Amino acid sequence: MSLLIDNVRLWDGTGSPTRARMSVEVRDGRVFWVGPAADWHRNRTSVRVIDGSARTLIPGLMDCHVHYSSPGGPDWIARFTDPLPEISIRAVELAETSLRSGITTARDVGAPHAVNIRLARASKAGEIRAPTIHPAGTWIAHRGTYVPFARLFGDANELREAIREEIEAGVSLVKVALSGWNEGARPKDAPDIPFDARLLSLAVQEAHRAGYKIACHANDRESCHIAARSGVDSIEHGMFLEKEDVEAMVTNNTFLVPTMSVWDAMLYYASVADWPENRRTRAEGLREGSRKSVLMASQMGVQIALGTDAGGGAARHGRIAREAELMADCGMNVRDVLHAATSRAAGLIGENERGTIELGKIADLVLLDADPAENIAALRLIAAIYQGGKRVA
Ligand SMILES: [Zn+2]
Repeated sequence: MSLLIDNVRLWDGTGSPTRARMSVEVRDGRVFWVGPAADWHRNRTSVRVIDGSARTLIPGLMDCHVHYSSPGGPDWIARFTDPLPEISIRAVELAETSLRSGITTARDVGAPHAVNIRLARASKAGEIRAPTIHPAGTWIAHRGTYVPFARLFGDANELREAIREEIEAGVSLVKVALSGWNEGARPKDAPDIPFDARLLSLAVQEAHRAGYKIACHANDRESCHIAARSGVDSIEHGMFLEKEDVEAMVTNNTFLVPTMSVWDAMLYYASVADWPENRRTRAEGLREGSRKSVLMASQMGVQIALGTDAGGGAARHGRIAREAELMADCGMNVRDVLHAATSRAAGLIGENERGTIELGKIADLVLLDADPAENIAALRLIAAIYQGGKRVA
């Protein structure tokens, strides 16, 4: 049966402003008709009509950076090493939480035991209520850096092998992480960031040659500097970008996925979970760097795709509206924020059939009680969520 969302304000993600008194008809899971409500003339008794009066319809939201294998919170890193049955059951629950916040598509950019690949398949098969998930398998990082449950390599051969095996396991994209040495792990005379420019460009080549995108965690000055010049498809976090890094990202067509919820959540836990002063100071440093980087990147023309880092950086799942508010708060135009959460995100993910409300596209839709192009906080006012034309929340 078809569905008619009638007489609604429409923000379709194509770049058009919000249009009032529109209707959208969905058939067989796709957008079948879009136009002024007054121009829809078929028989109303044969369709399910949803009254859209004083409501706004937008494309389903996309979160380009989540980790369903952790619930976030003050001890988020420890949660990644919980017993596997616990992680698995929780991942199903968290993916549904995410969907209920309006996220119909997500990139899960790192999980232990390839939980995200299994989760993506269960979602695709319709066995669970979850966004369409694009999994990156397990993080790839240099031995002695980052988290111990990442997939670790020590040289170019191991790096290539890691990428090939992740691809073979069924990932949708490759995720690598640049970062400094863990405490006590640094060998004598080693460089600050052992996953250097040479190794990273090799990773980029290896992923691209196989037809996969590569996302890169970079969250300190040196890592941002290396990643911005490497040709990775996206820099994740990127909270310490300098002007020259941003210029390189524009040249290389590298997206920024800002994950501002990370420091926002950290600042909250610093106050309620009695964190030591140095952790609070670090979170404040992230906030300052991040706000500057995002504003500069958006002003200089970097493509920005929304990502919360829910699960992976203290941020909880189901709070995509908060991320959008933080982006707007630092000076981004509200419409740019909405694009970052829909069509721009689709561009990064490579989702040609989602991200806008246009004829023939998959009907992933969110119905809101107010217009987010006027006030981004409207993303909190969800009336209904449709995935492939089916009401899921
Ligand atoms: Zn993350």
